[in-house]
Amino acid sequence: MGLAVAEARPGAAPRALSARILVDARGAASPYATADLVCPTVGGVLAGLEEGDGERQIRPDVGEILATTEDVEEGRQHLWEAFPGRRGETTVYLFYYARSGDVGPGALLSLYARFFRLLSRYKEGDARLVRPTFGFIPGWSRLSAAPRAPGRRVRLVGDAAARHSPLTFCGFGASVRELAATAADLARAVEDPGAPSTAHDAPVHSGTGALAALMARPAGGARAGEMNALLNTAFAVLHAMGNDAYAALLRDEMQPADFVRFLRETAARRPEVYREVVSALPLRAIGRWGAGLARELYRAR
Ligand SMILES: Cc1cc2nc3c(=O)[nH]c(=O)nc-3n(C[C@H](O)[C@H](O)[C@H](O)COP(=O)(O)OP(=O)(O)OC[C@H]3O[C@@H](n4cnc5c(N)ncnc54)[C@H](O)[C@@H]3O)c2cc1C
Repeated sequence: MGLAVAEARPGAAPRALSARILVDARGAASPYATADLVCPTVGGVLAGLEEGDGERQIRPDVGEILATTEDVEEGRQHLWEAFPGRRGETTVYLFYYARSGDVGPGALLSLYARFFRLLSRYKEGDARLVRPTFGFIPGWSRLSAAPRAPGRRVRLVGDAAARHSPLTFCGFGASVRELAATAADLARAVEDPGAPSTAHDAPVHSGTGALAALMARPAGGARAGEMNALLNTAFAVLHAMGNDAYAALLRDEMQPADFVRFLRETAARRPEVYREVVSALPLRAIGRWGAGLARELYRAR
């Protein structure tokens, strides 16, 4: 039996609960959410942004991902995203990729300060925040140990487990896509708590994690523009590969062979990426990346 000691209210007498398994779905707040990457994100639903076809206007029928308005500043490549919703409203986020150990208390507050200071560089208009949304999204690079439950009767799910893409940080989408598999895994665990988890890890994640780790350590100073140059090249390659490949990457469905083609094409257009990878990632991580990709390529044969 799993045993948990619960304290309903501060000062209330602890109550002991027992169960066959305990599901930890506390998201980033779980003490077992030990993923090596994190994406601090702030923003929310905005009204009043100017609509139109211009770069600094919102097209109400088109979303926008991984847009930048500056090079690396304060050791971070800040990124914007916009998703139109109800008429006259757009959800806008500002975020960056980081190693979890590099993000301290107050990170979201200073990111919000930047959001309001620089929003007009991203989109024009008389913006009004209708509803704030913010938080830390964990991401696991697959280059270090995975978040682990403290015992065989405890299962981590969602952000606590961080099995979603470390590149898109779309934990909600990944949870929905994996809902049936997760439910079946938990049902098996209730029957046999000792059984190993059969939770699925999309093959493409063995490749995307290193890219996220690279973005979490962007070069500054004289090389502060490199991340933007790399993003421009990578998106140009995805564009050339076509919408199906691009959509497959965003939905975590890209096949390992296509992912390797994407990497090779990006490196052919931007050979500096080899130096950027070697200076941002330890050799051991590069080795794990190569081994993980090779394993997935072999499995997919
Ligand atoms: C600003 C922002 C935008 C995002 N946009 C997208 C997106 O567009 N697409 C996408 O797919 N994903 C997105 N995500 C990520 C997505 O929201 C998360 O991956 C997803 O919510 C994870 O779900 P979860 O249930 O694991 O954790 P959570 O949604 O974090 O839920 C955990 C819950 O546990 C509760 N909790 C924590 N500790 C305790 C405790 N001790 N006792 C009781 N309850 C506790 C919390 O209050 C919370 O309700 C976004 C995240 C943020 C922050």
